[in-house]
Amino acid sequence: MNRESIAAHSHAKLEEITKRNLRRQLNPLDSPQGVEIVQNGVTLINFSSNDYLGLATHPALKEAAAKAAIDLGVGSGASRLVTGSLPIHSELEAVISEFKQTQAALTFSSGYAAALGTIPALVGKDDMIILDKLSHACLVDGARLSGAKVRVYKHNDMDQLEDRLRWARTTHPQANVLVVTEAVFSMDGDMAPLREMVALKQKFGVWLMVDEAHALGVVGKQGEGLALALGLNDQIDVQMGTLSKAIGSSGGYICGSRSMIDLLINSARSFIYSTAPPPPAAAAAISGITIMQSPEGLEKIRCLHDNTLCILKGIGLHATAAHVPAIIPVITGDESKALEVSQILKQRGFMIPAIRFPTVAKNAARLRITVSAAHRRDQIQKLIAQIREILC
Ligand SMILES: *Cc1c(COP(=O)(O)O)cnc(C)c1O
Repeated sequence: MNRESIAAHSHAKLEEITKRNLRRQLNPLDSPQGVEIVQNGVTLINFSSNDYLGLATHPALKEAAAKAAIDLGVGSGASRLVTGSLPIHSELEAVISEFKQTQAALTFSSGYAAALGTIPALVGKDDMIILDKLSHACLVDGARLSGAKVRVYKHNDMDQLEDRLRWARTTHPQANVLVVTEAVFSMDGDMAPLREMVALKQKFGVWLMVDEAHALGVVGKQGEGLALALGLNDQIDVQMGTLSKAIGSSGGYICGSRSMIDLLINSARSFIYSTAPPPPAAAAAISGITIMQSPEGLEKIRCLHDNTLCILKGIGLHATAAHVPAIIPVITGDESKALEVSQILKQRGFMIPAIRFPTVAKNAARLRITVSAAHRRDQIQKLIAQIREILC
């Protein structure tokens, strides 16, 4: 018999979490998400969304989703491999692979599901995965689920990655080796040195997987992501991304060679055993990617870059004009300090969450500012003034 009821067990666990300043709660909005949100009746300027281009509430995406709901229904009814595969899913995949200049693409119900299905479909227990220490939870979980031997290297440390690769090749000469990284790191806003990584990939004859969740729609003049912006498109075996952030809709994707995508259709469990994404989400994603490539989209991307550079400069952080990510971490270290600053900013009309363990390492708590093309100059100036007053 178990020692206590599940309710009592949960209660005790939550007490522990609360004591460590790590308790989280849901705080529903009284408004749609956007650069201005209403929470508990208070209007806040929102610097916490990943809707980098403001497309999630764009009229064209809303119309595309509404039209798809009317024409095709809300649910897909079955897995893609049963009867859930609709022309709109293939159309979305064609749009993605054309934009990313790869042979093929496959969509999943989320970016999380894409990682969880893809990594175990490509490597197994006789193989090895070498992972950046700061990789997103879905990459870590996908790696664990694969059963491959997992080794971590220090964040963006190419010497250590090379050491790991040499070790992998020496100790397991027969293994397939997959190196996994994010393009733009979700909590730090810095970028993987993809050129060096590609050179190491070639030197050791391994595979490279790059998660572009925070790079798509953000990095490069056309929001094409880091791989394409650096001209490394052909060198990256597995390109992953999400349709839920800059694209403004929902869903995840993998793109790469036709044969790899066909293998995923046959072996990625989160693809096979999950209902096809809703037609409205697919329609909105097509609309999002189309707008991104239009003159309107290019203007939004330029605006996002300007807004980000303006904040970086305003709070005294180093800014380089090439490839600016839209994530700005202001590190406080201490968990309670991060919470306190976030609370003060809220009282002054800003939504900027404190990011704490386990999302980031212990004592690396931070405020995570995310910038949108939809932020106005006056909102940005106000934010800069507040951060300087509170933290400097
Ligand atoms: C958000 C995120 C994902 C997951 O994408 P969803 O579509 O939200 O499931 C994957 N990787 C990274 C780096 C992310 O930040």
